[in-house]
Amino acid sequence: MKLNGVRVPHKKNTAGSPSLRLPIPETVTIPMSMHIGKPAAVLVKRGDSVKVGQLIGKADGFVSAPVHSSVSGTVKKIDEITASNGSKVSAVIIETDGLQEISEEIQKPVVNDFESFINAVKASGIVGLGGAGFPTFVKLGVKDLSKVEEIVINSAECEPYITSDTRTMLEKTEYISKGIDALQKYMQAKRIIIGIENNKKECVQKMQELASQKSGVEVHVLPSIYPQGGEKVLIYNTTKKIVPKGGLPLDVGVIVINCTTLAEIAKYLETGMPLVEKCITVDGSAVREPKNVVAPIGTPLTKLFDFCSGFKSEPEKVLYGGPMMGIAVPSLDEPVLKNTNAVIAMDKNEAKPPKVTPCINCGACLNHCPLKLDPREIARAYKRNSAEDLQMLCVDLCMECGCCSYVCPAKRPLVQTNKLAKAKLREYVNSKKAEGEGKK
Ligand code: SF4
Ligand code: SF4
Repeated sequence: MKLNGVRVPHKKNTAGSPSLRLPIPETVTIPMSMHIGKPAAVLVKRGDSVKVGQLIGKADGFVSAPVHSSVSGTVKKIDEITASNGSKVSAVIIETDGLQEISEEIQKPVVNDFESFINAVKASGIVGLGGAGFPTFVKLGVKDLSKVEEIVINSAECEPYITSDTRTMLEKTEYISKGIDALQKYMQAKRIIIGIENNKKECVQKMQELASQKSGVEVHVLPSIYPQGGEKVLIYNTTKKIVPKGGLPLDVGVIVINCTTLAEIAKYLETGMPLVEKCITVDGSAVREPKNVVAPIGTPLTKLFDFCSGFKSEPEKVLYGGPMMGIAVPSLDEPVLKNTNAVIAMDKNEAKPPKVTPCINCGACLNHCPLKLDPREIARAYKRNSAEDLQMLCVDLCMECGCCSYVCPAKRPLVQTNKLAKAKLREYVNSKKAEGEGKK
């Protein structure tokens, strides 16, 4: 069996650029929802003084994550902002004092078993930093550890432009190493696999050196085919296991964790400093000097671009994330989020929407879909407004990787249609559920 994908231009312009620290901005805007799940509950009010690492948002539900101040300064206001997905979310706006005083709350956590390890991961505020934003303590907090056969460290970084994981592997190798030790000690991981694309030669070498010093750690060097870092794709290509339809990686005994997420866990275990800053790749055809920038969470994106000497041409489109799966940013005042690994500014040429023509039934979309979905038929079912057909076509499994749109010679907006179709199917499933409950 072979999982499909596409060959995309790598554009890893910043792979060799060491990360540079951004000067502290005058204000930061820290949203209470930078994760999948329930937003955190605000703990501070206007006028409060805050310090770096101080808890300002309490996790408010089982799937939620705490939020910490990334700066020292004064809370200017608690506001409601519009997130890039259109939802309204509370945010703490802090005027910085430039001192970056560390909160007295910061303490190295006491970790001696699985439970205290999971509690520490929860307190760190760490969420999936590869872009997913799922609270990491929920992912690692499995009920039965004996079910975990492999932990795969996702170091594929298959999206064009993005090199922030590359910098983690090169600059924070020690934290990845300590993170692996923690997984072996507290999660009794029997087999750890680092999955990495072959276009990152220096990283491959670093990871192989690291693995050679440990037992139970393997490095799998994988072809650079997008979306190699997609969870199900990576699981198959490293373990040959297939996650069942609608199932989770744990159903086949696997947990996948991003390499930067793991490094941040190790950093928290060593220092007690929660997730308050991120390394972000700032690139795209409109950016004058692409860089990897370390910035406090909540920093306005405009500061990142200023730090990269601004734009060489007017940006037509700015994305959180890479060009394949990134989300359009409505304004440059949007903040750096926990799961922001890149911001890409495209000029007119790069962002130019392609001319859409009718489907020619070539089947390329189906042939390149890593999950073997049929985007052409999904688009037709969506047009017919048939939620039943969308369910039959398993549109809910679509990981929105964009391979189908990328290969379509007619330039049909297949991934966008899939997103809409998934929403339609969710609505249908929920209404069926409500109907069923009403009959009880
Ligand atoms: S249908 Fe979904 S999973 Fe398949 S290629 Fe398109 S976006 Fe990717
Ligand atoms: S790739 Fe485009 S043109 Fe070809 S079958 Fe799919 S939707 Fe139609």
